[in-house]
Amino acid sequence: MTRLTTTAIHGREQRAKPYHSLVTPICCTSTFTFEDMDDVNHTQDQYLDGKYLERQEYGRYGNPTQHAVEQRLAALEEADAAILSASGMYAITATLLGLLSSGDHMILTQDCYRRTREFCSTYLSRWGIETTIVPACDIDAIEKAMRSNTRLILTEVPTNPWLRVIDLEALVEVARAHGVKVIADSTLASPCNLRPLALGVDLVVHSATKYLGGHNDLLAGVVLGEEDLITELRELHFNLGGIVAPQTAYNLLRGIKTLGLRVEHHNASGMAIARFLECQPKIRSVHYPGLPSHPDHDVAVRFMSGYGGMVSFEIDGTRERTSAFVDALRMPFIGPSFGGTEALVIQPAIQSYCGLTAEQRLAVGITDQLVRYAAGLEDARDLIEDLAQALDQI
Ligand code: PLP
Repeated sequence: MTRLTTTAIHGREQRAKPYHSLVTPICCTSTFTFEDMDDVNHTQDQYLDGKYLERQEYGRYGNPTQHAVEQRLAALEEADAAILSASGMYAITATLLGLLSSGDHMILTQDCYRRTREFCSTYLSRWGIETTIVPACDIDAIEKAMRSNTRLILTEVPTNPWLRVIDLEALVEVARAHGVKVIADSTLASPCNLRPLALGVDLVVHSATKYLGGHNDLLAGVVLGEEDLITELRELHFNLGGIVAPQTAYNLLRGIKTLGLRVEHHNASGMAIARFLECQPKIRSVHYPGLPSHPDHDVAVRFMSGYGGMVSFEIDGTRERTSAFVDALRMPFIGPSFGGTEALVIQPAIQSYCGLTAEQRLAVGITDQLVRYAAGLEDARDLIEDLAQALDQI
C-alpha cells in the first residue's frame, strides 16, 4: 500500500488510458453504445449478477471519468467502493433514503451541517422516519436514545462549526451492541486526517466540494464503504439520478491529486491561526481540536493526524463588533464553504443561520460572536497579519 500523497495520484488508477493519455480523459457522452447483441447480453448478465459494470451504458448509471474518481476516493479511504454524486447533500440524503424506511428511527449528533439536520427533522419525518438529535460527542446520550426501531446513527467528525470530535471507537461499540449502522460525515477531516472506516464505521460521506475538490470551483459528494452496502445504495442512486457531470469529475480528480500536499498546508495554517488567536485579548474563545484547550483534544490526538484549516472563534463583544471584525479582514472572502485555495470567513448567526430566531440559534449553539474562519492555501503568516490588523481595528 502506498502513502497518502502517492495514493492521491495513483490509487486504483487504470494505467492504460484511451489514446495513451497520461491523464484520465473527460468522457463527454450521455450514451454508450454496444458492438452487437452478444455485447448487450454480456452487460445485462453482469448487471443481473449485481456486479458493477465493466463498461457503461447510459450516463446516469456511470461514466469512465466519474468511475476513475470513485476508484481514487475508495483508495484514499481504504473502502471497497464509492458512489460519487452531485453534492455532499445528495450523498447524505440519498444514503439516508437508501437505508431507512417508514417507521424507522435514526440518531443524529448535534452541531452538524444545518441542512443535514433540516433534512432529517423536516423531510424524513414526513415519510414516517423519526430522528433524535443528541448532543455532539455524548456517547451516553446516544445509547439512551436507542430504540428497537433505531437503524442508524449519523455523525460528523469534526463537527461544523464547533469542531467537536466524537470518539468513533466508542460510538461504533455502542452501535454494534444495538445492531445499528454508523455513518460519519468526515468532510472536515478529509481522508488525510481521519479514516472512519478503519475504526469500524459502516459508511463515510464527504462533501467533495471542500478539501477533496480543493479549489472552490465545483460541487460533488461521495459515500464510501463495503461493496454490498454501496451496491445496495447504487440502485437508488440510479433512480434518483444525482450524477456528477464528467467535466466536474475531471476537475475533482485533478484536485484530489494534490490533496495530501494541500491538507498538510491547511493543517499547519489552522494550527498557527488557532495558536495566534488564543493569545488575543479581543478573542473570547477559540475552537480548534489541535489546541489542548479544546474539549475533544485527547480524542482528536488519538484518531486524527491533523486538524484542518477551519478555526472557529468568538469575538469578545457584540454581534456588531463581530461584524466589524469580519469587515476589517482583507484576506479572506466573506462566503460559505472551506477547504479550498482561497480563505473564507462567515459570521454564522448572520449568514447561514439568519433564518432562525436568536433563541433557535442558541439552541443549536450559534452565538452572535461566532466567526468561522477557513484558511485557504495562502501563507499562514499573511493570514495571521491580516487577522491582527482586523483585531486592531475593533
Ligand atoms: N457536510 C458538511 C460537513 C458540510 O459542511 C457541507 C456543506 O457545507 C455538506 C455536508 C454539504 O455539502 P455540499 O455543499 O457539497 O452539498
